[in-house]
Amino acid sequence: MSDAPTNFAEALAALSSAVPELEIVEKAEKVAEKSHDLWVRSLLERLDSGTQPSASALLRPGSAAEVAKILEWAQATKTPVVPFGLGSGVCGAVLAQSGQVVLDLSKMDRLLELNGDTLTARVQPGMRGCDFERALAGQGYTMGHWPQSIDI
Ligand SMILES: Cc1cc2nc3c(=O)[nH]c(=O)nc-3n(C[C@H](O)[C@H](O)[C@H](O)COP(=O)(O)OP(=O)(O)OC[C@H]3O[C@@H](n4cnc5c(N)ncnc54)[C@H](O)[C@@H]3O)c2cc1C
Repeated sequence: MSDAPTNFAEALAALSSAVPELEIVEKAEKVAEKSHDLWVRSLLERLDSGTQPSASALLRPGSAAEVAKILEWAQATKTPVVPFGLGSGVCGAVLAQSGQVVLDLSKMDRLLELNGDTLTARVQPGMRGCDFERALAGQGYTMGHWPQSIDI
């Protein structure tokens, strides 16, 4: 991937060849769904204008190794990447546009490690709060933190 492709379609094709196991979504409605978070102002703008600003593709990695390859590709092709956890942010941090890709982390949803001595856990970035709490409860722990958004 050292020769920078000249357009987005070529760049995406290069990514698909370099990481064949990566799920790449280009269906417009699916990409638009994850091109914004829950910021009310962007919702009002979408309703007002009747338009749906959207990234050009959704990348759905299943592992840290895939994320690393995506970022290497993004660097080589100068493609802006917008990470997307579960889109529950309320400040418009996720506002992806054409020419950008959304890095949808929702497939990476596991508790990797729980250390009972240090009371620390390693969790993948797409794990929902309530699932995390359930996984901890199964081993006799709690995260002891209940934001209103834990279920979303
Ligand atoms: C009803 C409601 C109540 C809420 N209550 C609270 C509350 O009480 N306390 C509180 O703190 N928050 C609260 N929030 C905010 C919300 O819970 C947080 O913003 C949420 O944790 C964001 O997580 P997310 O994975 O959905 O991130 P997203 O919304 O997907 O992304 C948030 C930002 O982080 C970036 N990002 C996402 N994942 C990664 C990653 N792996 N690496 C690098 N960057 C990344 C995104 O690009 C974006 O800029 C509330 C939200 C709602 C809707």
